[in-house]
Amino acid sequence: MNHHLSCDSAGISPCQDVVYDSVVVPPSFLERMLEHARSCAPYECCGVVGGKGRIVTSVHPLRNDLESATQFFADPKELIDAVKKMRKSGEEMIGIYHSHPDSLAVPSQRDREENYYVGYFYFIISLMTENPIVRCYVMSHDREFTSVQII
Ligand SMILES: [Zn+2]
Repeated sequence: MNHHLSCDSAGISPCQDVVYDSVVVPPSFLERMLEHARSCAPYECCGVVGGKGRIVTSVHPLRNDLESATQFFADPKELIDAVKKMRKSGEEMIGIYHSHPDSLAVPSQRDREENYYVGYFYFIISLMTENPIVRCYVMSHDREFTSVQII
């Protein structure tokens, strides 16, 4: 079973053409992701981010249907609603995020195997340490995650 976002019905392109090495996330959006991660603990949270190019202009928390500490599956209806909302305001879905309540902010084996969002910003929030850590990655076609600087 794929634990990641199921977007086919939402018409989301499975792959981005341009790959950036940095992403601009205004502090309020970073805080929104952190708050969501904290509120879902000990379970993983998940959501999507909207924007243009490498600039994040919205964060859309989604329900993790699995209610699991080690995996997530975004509620399909909430995902479709979020995509509609982004389109309405002229944004595109440029990334996804999820939390690691008890592990580092690096892609897990499962993340590596089951993520098919090539080229999308892939945010991971770790709540393992007292101060949460947010990292961002982009997965290439050969399924390698490359770290992306958050600015
Ligand atoms: Zn993960």
